[in-house]
Amino acid sequence: MVRVRFAPSPTGYLHLGNARTALFNYIFARHEGGKLVLRIEDTDKERSKKEYEDMLIDDLKWLGIEWDEGPDVGGEYGPYRQSERTHIYNEYLEKLKQSGHVYKCYCTPEELEEERKKALAEGRPPRYSGKCRNLTEEERKELEEEGKSYVWRFRVPDGETIVFEDLIKGVVEINVNEFGDFVIVRSDGSPVYNFVVVVDDALMKISHVIRGEDHLSNTPKQILIYRALGFPEPKFAHLPIILGEDRSKLSKRHGAVSVRAFRDEGYVSEAMFNGLALLGWHPKRDSEVILKDEIIKEFDIRDIHNAPAVFDRAKLKWLNGVYIREILDLDDLTNRAIPFFKKFGYEADFDYYKKVMEAIRDSIEVLNDIKERAYPFFVDEYDFDEDAIAFIKENQNSLNVIKAFYEKVKETPALDKQTFKRLTKEIQKQLKVKGKQLFMPIRIALTGKTSGVDIATLVEIIGKDRVLKRLERAIDYLSKV
Ligand code: GLU
Repeated sequence: MVRVRFAPSPTGYLHLGNARTALFNYIFARHEGGKLVLRIEDTDKERSKKEYEDMLIDDLKWLGIEWDEGPDVGGEYGPYRQSERTHIYNEYLEKLKQSGHVYKCYCTPEELEEERKKALAEGRPPRYSGKCRNLTEEERKELEEEGKSYVWRFRVPDGETIVFEDLIKGVVEINVNEFGDFVIVRSDGSPVYNFVVVVDDALMKISHVIRGEDHLSNTPKQILIYRALGFPEPKFAHLPIILGEDRSKLSKRHGAVSVRAFRDEGYVSEAMFNGLALLGWHPKRDSEVILKDEIIKEFDIRDIHNAPAVFDRAKLKWLNGVYIREILDLDDLTNRAIPFFKKFGYEADFDYYKKVMEAIRDSIEVLNDIKERAYPFFVDEYDFDEDAIAFIKENQNSLNVIKAFYEKVKETPALDKQTFKRLTKEIQKQLKVKGKQLFMPIRIALTGKTSGVDIATLVEIIGKDRVLKRLERAIDYLSKV
């Protein structure tokens, strides 16, 4: 039975790296017919916040990731928040004490820092000297009577090489001398990540640990704990690091990296899902546009590249445009766009929004583009920009075209695309103007700009009365420039 988990720490927004980890866990679980567990790793009491947990859950759901067990849905292997599992960790610490796998270390942070500096200066990997490893009962008693506090260290078998087969990295070998005896419980009694993650993964029956490559160096420590506790070891898969376009580790310096920021900019979740899946994986087909269900069907964890994934922001934006233009159903797209219309102060009813979306969907890449592209459908009192004014000044017939158009609109019972075409044809004949000379003045009069939406569509959507009002205002303003 495949059981995987996504184990975020609720210390901030869900960023692209973690979202991709969640995504691959989800895709793998669904592909294999297994289960996905959401576990909240909130052992860092200072930095963990319930608001962050709520936001993580909200962003994951938005992305279309569903889990079978977790703090919000429960499950057989809960609790799913580490802060609620302290009694379990104590129980397993007890087992490690009994079996002699851990010992008390009384070294102070200052002493350890001193040792670390010395090792670095001598060109050795810094690791614990083992000073407290073989203290006698007597010596311990003495130190405790002096009021010294202690941590619990894991007794690492000297010189052993830990070997495991990573599903992405291949065979990984790490000699324990690279790290030495490590802390598993801090002096305040709080257990450390490497310890609790093993207890949780084992008790939650996790079969595959899929996580970021930054955890690769933790894996041998965790394997030692699995062995010490007699737990079966899961399979490991470490996802490649994500780089920015300058090939340095992706970070805030590269611009928005939180899923929330992309949501706010008007990325649609399907494009985000598709885009995140491409960070380390590629569909067999030529096209990179691939829907969730197809990704799940095609996915094989062994196809994940063992090379850094470069995050291509422009490609994600392009992909989003594809979903907006070609993939999403118009009603659905409109519903998602409504919060954006409202954000920009564009008020209307659903049917009107839908008509506008139909008119502009081909020309936007993110829903934030609505601000610019949709304004002619909502704003009647726009400014005339420099280019527009220059055109009017340079093309003397412009005002006559606008006036003629105004007279004709006034006479028509209603304005639709066909009527618009007929009216402009009539003006063409009457004033002997065509092309740009004919259409640009009308565009400028109705939008204040020299480019933008299709004008026939615009007049049909805003209707005769608004067209007339705009034309009156434009004639008045443009005759004075
Ligand atoms: N809480 C850890 C993190 O957010 C999880 C690491 C793991 O998956 O083992 O990096």
